[in-house]
Amino acid sequence: MGINYRSAEEIEKIRAANHIVMSAHKRLKEILRPGVTTAYLDKEAETVIRDLGGRPSFKGYRGFPATLCVAVNDQVVHGIPDDTTVVEGDIIGLDLGAEIYGYYGDAAQTLPVGEVSESAKELMDVTERALMAGIETITPGRRLSDVSHAIQTLVEDAGYYVVTAFVGHGIGTSPHEEPQVPNYGRPGRGPMLRKGMVLAIEPMVNIGTSEVRVLDDKWTVKTVDGSLSAHFEHSVAITENGRDILSAQLS
Ligand code: MG
Repeated sequence: MGINYRSAEEIEKIRAANHIVMSAHKRLKEILRPGVTTAYLDKEAETVIRDLGGRPSFKGYRGFPATLCVAVNDQVVHGIPDDTTVVEGDIIGLDLGAEIYGYYGDAAQTLPVGEVSESAKELMDVTERALMAGIETITPGRRLSDVSHAIQTLVEDAGYYVVTAFVGHGIGTSPHEEPQVPNYGRPGRGPMLRKGMVLAIEPMVNIGTSEVRVLDDKWTVKTVDGSLSAHFEHSVAITENGRDILSAQLS
């Protein structure tokens, strides 16, 4: 065990896996509209991944039955796609992973369905900005908890709450590797950030509480107070001088 430091060749394979992930995300953004089911989104994501030669890495992972983790409104993460129809005003978290050549990619976004409330827009904006604040903190020689602290600070300054029960993670030849990447914590702690580390950084942010609960399906995570939740994630490699977002948006 321990942290893996990846060669340039390995990082290109992780980038290839993330390219597949982002191709599926691009497709999801195109087709998301009021009236579609989460099962339809799941099927489309799986088709994109397989057409590009990849394998959906969440499917079968610890028994998860689908390609896509969905999270509608007060759901935080890990919802199972089904015949639920999304409606105007919903926000929907979409998290997916893919494997190719034995390497993994992982990224998440939260999208509005049609026109959504101002508070939902602000929550999504803050969550995405928290992810970017964490990523921008990455510099070789700083410590892992500097990333965590940057995320927590941005979220709490905006008046929201980070979820503490789930964390980001290393990624490479397994979908989840060391180290864990919490979205909270005091700065200056944990492993030194070094060239070759690849981290999946993924703040989950709630409007009203950091507390969450898992539903009877053993997967779906919700906020305990029913307030909205958003989730964004990128897979990021640490380079000589800074960082390289391997799951960068496709143009
Ligand atoms: Mg992840």
